[in-house]
Amino acid sequence: MTLPGDPLRLNADLHAHSRVSDGVLAPAEVARRAHAHGVQLFALTDHDEVDGLAEAGTAAAALGLAFVPGVEISVSWGGETIHVVGLRIDPGHRPLREGLARTRGGRDARAREMGEDLARAGIAGAYDGALRFVGNPAMVGRTHFARYIVELGVCRDVAEVFRHYLSEGKPGFVAHRWASLADAVGWIRSAGGVAVLAHPGRYRLDETALWALVAAFRDAGGEGIEVVSGSHTRDQYRRFAQVAREFGLRASRGSDFHAPDESRAELGSLPPLPDTLVPVWLDWPEAALAASRARAARADAVARA
Ligand code: AMP
Ligand code: MN
Ligand code: MN
Ligand code: MN
Repeated sequence: MTLPGDPLRLNADLHAHSRVSDGVLAPAEVARRAHAHGVQLFALTDHDEVDGLAEAGTAAAALGLAFVPGVEISVSWGGETIHVVGLRIDPGHRPLREGLARTRGGRDARAREMGEDLARAGIAGAYDGALRFVGNPAMVGRTHFARYIVELGVCRDVAEVFRHYLSEGKPGFVAHRWASLADAVGWIRSAGGVAVLAHPGRYRLDETALWALVAAFRDAGGEGIEVVSGSHTRDQYRRFAQVAREFGLRASRGSDFHAPDESRAELGSLPPLPDTLVPVWLDWPEAALAASRARAARADAVARA
């Protein structure tokens, strides 16, 4: 039986973005929105940057929302870009901060090159246009270009811009070398965190390559995998639940929320993890806190009824 205060059944959302990377809300606004949508255990996981965590943590504390400091690191592996989420990291840890700074380092030059390529494809001024959408100039990325191109009226939405201009093989795509898998997992672990393979269903890998990736991730010290993700279909929940069991990985759940009108999933809106899996948060003190708050709220509601 599942009880309201059961840590297995917490509404955990452990993947979300703010303006500090390519989301649109301030870190405190993301925390408030998570709380308003019923999230009980919340992680902010901006791309390659930990600068929003203090603000999000303060806002979460004021709401009584259990908060987990996180990050999503861009990795190059086997010619593909892979994302690794780090949870329960110490944001002040020097090797992590320095590694993230190096990972961000190439973004501006890449963005200038994207701007030049897009100009040749008929879209002028995209570098400056993208910069108008950034909250953090060091973190300029494809999503900011996509928002600018939507504003121009060239495409209807961000997904269409990615399809026509920003995916591999399209005119605005610039190949980039991110962190290595071993480095990203190593920085997370040395900062006291747990490494989680983000949205495995998004990578263009065949079955053999996907298994090689999950094996390499686990061998590097990775401990978790996103099963229920805003980037996954229901079939992929089942498929990656199976992968989690096969590889002995803990399971994570996260919306990958970026913006109210843009994201595929709202904060806290996804189905629960299949109950045959071990949640990545099972033995976390933040989860115990969230569960005890849920029990107290439940007792309060019963006493009032
Ligand atoms: P970047 O790190 O600059 O390569 O940008 C990667 C980000 O682009 C991801 O984190 C997503 O937010 C966004 N993205 C990637 N592919 C798509 C897509 N097909 N549709 C919408 N957003 C996407
Ligand atoms: Mn993103
Ligand atoms: Mn990602
Ligand atoms: Mn993400």
